[in-house]
Amino acid sequence: MLINVPHTSRKFFLATLLTHTMLGKRRASSWERLLCRYLCEKKVVHFHRPYKVKLFLANGKTITYEPDIQIGGNIIIEPHGIIDKITTFHGECPTMKIILITKNDHIPQIPNEAYDEIIPIEYFDMLETALKRMRRKQH
Ligand SMILES: [Zn+2]
Repeated sequence: MLINVPHTSRKFFLATLLTHTMLGKRRASSWERLLCRYLCEKKVVHFHRPYKVKLFLANGKTITYEPDIQIGGNIIIEPHGIIDKITTFHGECPTMKIILITKNDHIPQIPNEAYDEIIPIEYFDMLETALKRMRRKQH
């Protein structure tokens, strides 16, 4: 069973997640599960970890970036990701739109280049409006 299948069913996600966890392939953070539930309730079709990309940092290091949640072709939702990775990815793939979810207190420390929208986890319900705003911009 693959986890990176588009869905609006939380049951489906939890079932596939269980398989993956048992296989030791991956775990989902509580924020990722929370966002999955939210998106399913709102009937927003989304994927979890759709792919991995290799990125080359300025210091010569190579890193792998795996978007947490993707909606449609180009919207990524990243709950508490590693900011360096996300900023590099965003710089190299400017057509991808990133919604960063973080703690309200951390927002001032995050560079603007890292995201298109930023939402405090404490008010994650703002996600629906942010998605609508982004989709409107695309048309
Ligand atoms: Zn999901």
